[in-house]
Amino acid sequence: MTKIKVIQVQDECIGCGACESTSPKLFEMRETKAHLKNSHKIKWKGKDAFITETDLITDAKEAVDVCPVTCIHIE
Ligand code: SF4
Repeated sequence: MTKIKVIQVQDECIGCGACESTSPKLFEMRETKAHLKNSHKIKWKGKDAFITETDLITDAKEAVDVCPVTCIHIE
């Protein structure tokens, strides 16, 4: 089973909304910043978000690609 860790650096987020538009299951806008959704499909360990579902992994990779300031990372 593939598992990825998703990191979104909010200090660097410019609030463009591209991640929410591309991957609404994973990201939501709150005021001027995007946040990883507190979805039951995301396994949280401390502040780290882990995803195992194939469709969400695809969504996370697309969000990485569309973020104009590259503040979304996957490991
Ligand atoms: S795409 Fe990047 S800069 Fe734009 S809202 Fe999402 S995290 Fe922030």
